[in-house]
Amino acid sequence: MATLLLMNADLLVTMDGERRRIPGGGLFVRNNVIEAVAPSAALPAAADLVIDATGMVVLPGLVNTHHHLYQTLTRALPPVQNAKLFDWLTYLYPIWAELTPEAVYTSALVGLAELVLSGCTTASDHLYLVPNGARHDDEIRAARELGVRFHPCRGSMSLGRSQGGLPPDSVVQTEDEILADCERLVAAYHDPQPYAMLRIALAPCSPFSVTGESLRRSAEWARAHGVMLHTHVAETADEDEFCLEKFGCRPVEYMRRLGWVGPDVWYAHAVFLNPAEVQLLAETGTGVAHCPSSNMRLGSGIAPIREMLDAGVAVGLAVDGSASNDSSHMLAEARMALLLQRVAKGATALTVAEALEMATLGGARVLGRDDIGTLAPGKAADFIGVRLERLEFAGASCHDPAGALVLCTPPQVDLSVINGRIVVEDGHIPGLDLERLIARQNELALDMVRRAQSKR
Ligand SMILES: [Zn+2]
Repeated sequence: MATLLLMNADLLVTMDGERRRIPGGGLFVRNNVIEAVAPSAALPAAADLVIDATGMVVLPGLVNTHHHLYQTLTRALPPVQNAKLFDWLTYLYPIWAELTPEAVYTSALVGLAELVLSGCTTASDHLYLVPNGARHDDEIRAARELGVRFHPCRGSMSLGRSQGGLPPDSVVQTEDEILADCERLVAAYHDPQPYAMLRIALAPCSPFSVTGESLRRSAEWARAHGVMLHTHVAETADEDEFCLEKFGCRPVEYMRRLGWVGPDVWYAHAVFLNPAEVQLLAETGTGVAHCPSSNMRLGSGIAPIREMLDAGVAVGLAVDGSASNDSSHMLAEARMALLLQRVAKGATALTVAEALEMATLGGARVLGRDDIGTLAPGKAADFIGVRLERLEFAGASCHDPAGALVLCTPPQVDLSVINGRIVVEDGHIPGLDLERLIARQNELALDMVRRAQSKR
């Protein structure tokens, strides 16, 4: 369709340069791009599609900057419910080694549907093992079917246990294999144009599962081809120790030496940063995907987000893989970000506005995008709506609808429009057979665990 009019939102939160919040607001979209944002009466009266947002708070679609969608297959596994990162990984690698193309596709559909229903319109994913013929193409198919804006990261592991790394040799690939597949994916899918629905990033997994050579070659290749770089950095105290012992320096310094700082790089976690490292990220424009639930679930620590924001670091939010969060809920993550900083630094450590800003504009900046994260003329038509008349908002949304989104029980969204197309309507994803999807996901999940157990 050519034009879309959203009108009569109880409150429209723009996240624009002036952070306007417009009571009775609306927006007019032409060819999937926002043309006007204003009080409804000031907008054109007709369009090819009209959405009446009466009773809703409307805001820019949320941006998830880090996930491992395949891990929705191994959520809440009893043997690792209480494990810290390295033990958790060591137990799970052999199960993940049983991934298949169908498992990657199905788990991506599950995780992305969950994300979309929680307000996410742009999702990044970090798939770093591709056994048994699985490929990133399998998750890209799921994203395209749902209609979500997608930044899949070609993850990889090249440092197996026999070489001093953490993962078993069976799930690592050679540097040549990895780079050849990166080249294939970028040629097949990467769209550098504004309003792109799909961009590829290169993402060797972490300092303890890839070789330094692999990190260096990935950075060189990515910069020559204009794609972004992503990895896990400074997640745990164990990683600090690993890097000090193996490389004689802390994780961020190790990454810096290999060329892994700059506005085209974003790190997941960045929990263990000292003030000089925070400064380095700010000065170089290196982004951070903050994963508060995961950091709490694994007992990793509290990232210095207040310090990063004060220093000007680009910080986005992320749910992280679903085996270390067990949920893919973006609004819940905004709430967790706010609460966790307050645990460390008191009640003024992070505001509702800052939490929403990280979930929208912050995530857009981390992913190198200036065309999403805000509702303003010229931006992509990605927005969400949440009905205010709901039990969990009673006595809250009458005071502050945006505050209710972050402080109350996180709701699912009632409306999501991505690239000008309705993806969630009346709280449901049209065309998605959830019952069948859930049943298949459970079958695949049990099957993977059984096959891995038979080999232990
Ligand atoms: Zn992760």
